[in-house]
Amino acid sequence: MPLYEYRCRVCGYRFEKLVRLSQADQPIACPNCGTSETERLLSAFAARTSEGASSATSCSTGGG
Ligand SMILES: [Zn+2]
Repeated sequence: MPLYEYRCRVCGYRFEKLVRLSQADQPIACPNCGTSETERLLSAFAARTSEGASSATSCSTGGG
């Protein structure tokens, strides 16, 4: 199950919760105040792609 981070819009309490894909769209109640006015933050497990450094080719033309 993916771990999502939520933040309460009422009390500002931030919490993480393991929710299923089917429950990810459902509102999560705040464990602090109990309201459902929570918003899901961006997941910390962002897929990062490691790209290689751009190879700079130095082309030098022989002078005359
Ligand atoms: Zn709250």
